Amino acid sequence: MRDVCIVGGGVAGLAASILTARAGLDTLVVDGGESILARNASLENYPGFPDGIDARRYLQLTREQARNAGATFELGRVTSVEPVAEDDLEAGFVLETDGGEPLEARRVIAASWADSDYLVPLDVGRIQRGNKHFVSVDEGGRTAVDGVYAAGRIAGEPHQAIVAAGHGAKVGFAVIHDADVNFYQDWVVPEGYFTGRGREVPPGCEEIDDEERRRRDERARETMLEALSEPLAERPTMHPSVERDRS
Ligand SMILES: Cc1cc2nc3c(=O)[nH]c(=O)nc-3n(C[C@H](O)[C@H](O)[C@H](O)COP(=O)(O)OP(=O)(O)OC[C@H]3O[C@@H](n4cnc5c(N)ncnc54)[C@H](O)[C@@H]3O)c2cc1C
Repeated sequence: MRDVCIVGGGVAGLAASILTARAGLDTLVVDGGESILARNASLENYPGFPDGIDARRYLQLTREQARNAGATFELGRVTSVEPVAEDDLEAGFVLETDGGEPLEARRVIAASWADSDYLVPLDVGRIQRGNKHFVSVDEGGRTAVDGVYAAGRIAGEPHQAIVAAGHGAKVGFAVIHDADVNFYQDWVVPEGYFTGRGREVPPGCEEIDDEERRRRDERARETMLEALSEPLAERPTMHPSVERDRS
């Protein structure tokens, strides 16, 4: 059984997966389609990109980052989530997908804007606004059902990528804490930052020397140079109700 299954590999789900995987939790991301951000024409308000970035490229890079962190991926739409044992939520959850084998996880993060129908059997506390359903959560993304969380737009967060990413990360940390992982912060710091003050390197943190820092910087620059070397062929996805000549 996996530690955490994240339903939805969009902005919030990927951000959560980066944190949970880096904290050593066995993390599976199940995604059944594409992020709503694929409809964006030019992502210009996400910090870190002075002149913006192609939203599809941003999603590609974030998926790559989640893989590098150790998260695994499965394609498929989750159709239901149910407890393994009705009277013991700590036993985890079974997730059915359309066509695939059932998946099992101790904790589930719903990051699946705009679908939460698969949560109906659990009665997590869905709220209808117009024709959309949102999931009611506490400050850590916890729903009314222990072990089930919601992140990003589906949790009622503002409809912006940076907010979805931040909320996904916050929910990832709640999962890490609830899983009793020995954890302080996910930081990489220069050699001596803690030990130079006679402190142990706290759990989740890493001290690296200057040679290692340069090695990582070189790898990071190579990755970005390669990723940005060519324009992407894909165009934004149009709203389904708009007819468009795609030739
Ligand atoms: C046209 C448009 C332009 C936008 N432009 C901007 C912008 O310029 N700047 C900005 O900050 N924000 C922009 N946004 C908003 C931004 O895209 C969203 O706020 C953000 O993507 C929400 O992240 P999320 O992770 O909650 O949802 P998403 O990124 O949509 O991720 C949800 C994921 O869950 C998957 N999923 C859904 N149901 C299931 C299921 N049952 N099983 C498995 N997987 C499932 C979906 O396929 C998707 O991959 C724009 C949105 C639109 C529509």
